[in-house]
Amino acid sequence: MRILIVEDEKKVAKALKTGLEDEQFEVVLSETGEDGYFLASSGSFDLIVLDIMLPGRSGLEILSALRKQQIGTPVLLLTARGTVEDRVRGLDGGADDYLTKPFAFAELLARIRMLLRRGRPNEILRFKCDGLEMDLVTRKVVRDGVRIELTPREFELLEFLLRQQGQIVSREMLACDVWREPHRVVTLDNVIDVHIARLRQKVDQPGQLKLIHTVRGAGFVLGETEP
Ligand code: CA
Repeated sequence: MRILIVEDEKKVAKALKTGLEDEQFEVVLSETGEDGYFLASSGSFDLIVLDIMLPGRSGLEILSALRKQQIGTPVLLLTARGTVEDRVRGLDGGADDYLTKPFAFAELLARIRMLLRRGRPNEILRFKCDGLEMDLVTRKVVRDGVRIELTPREFELLEFLLRQQGQIVSREMLACDVWREPHRVVTLDNVIDVHIARLRQKVDQPGQLKLIHTVRGAGFVLGETEP
């Protein structure tokens, strides 16, 4: 899941980015209102953490411009002042939640998870194959009850394979959907293969049923049975 953080205080921004990346989220950071608005209006994020006091456009201006454009990405506002007016304006303007600075990272994480869950009532947020389970909200992956630590890219790769469970996933598809490179190139193929190999080492431990299969000349399949 991709989170956009729009925050001009470098220290806070960096701490948030590191913390969320540790929780397996893909994080994009923006330090100005203009840049934040530009990124947010792409609509390609699952959640936006938006500071109110920003150089250029304020968080509230960004929020209202996004909602006018029918971009409904959940927004968690950060307010330094914590004044009633700010909160009311934010919530009236289409914010989904707010947090007053200074806040504990654990609280931010709890709010983010709640918003991500709430925003997708009909979407599948959990995948399972044999003893392998992935929870998209808590970002946890376990196999036979044992936690598997993945990098954000490995997480996305496994999520993609689990979504297409039992079907062949080509390197073109992975290049496009996981690496977001529309054109397949040989160097990227190598990168994909390296990531698949690392993922396989983590997911398929010795003695466990093999779940990630290579289909020669075609790509990969995740499933309980060999393709
Ligand atoms: Ca600020």
